[in-house]
Amino acid sequence: MSEGICSHIQAITTVKHARRRECDECVKTGARWVHLRTCQECGATLCCDDSPNRHASAHARTSGHPVIASAEPGERWLYCYPDDAFAEY
Ligand SMILES: [Zn+2]
Ligand SMILES: [Zn+2]
Ligand SMILES: [Zn+2]
Repeated sequence: MSEGICSHIQAITTVKHARRRECDECVKTGARWVHLRTCQECGATLCCDDSPNRHASAHARTSGHPVIASAEPGERWLYCYPDDAFAEY
């Protein structure tokens, strides 16, 4: 991990990956998503802010879980909502 990242991201030692390549919330309603993000607190995989339902940021707001990882193949980065901090791993 590089310098200049927040304590939430620094606290992550093992990155959680998506259990399934789908948004946990969108599948319930048959909604579509653009990209997937995995919550690093509880492991929920949810859709990004380019998706109509923005489940990942809604989850961060309501649950207080700050950090997500991209669940897209080939992407290796973490993002912290409250600090707007970004880190590759
Ligand atoms: Zn943070
Ligand atoms: Zn979704
Ligand atoms: Zn969570």
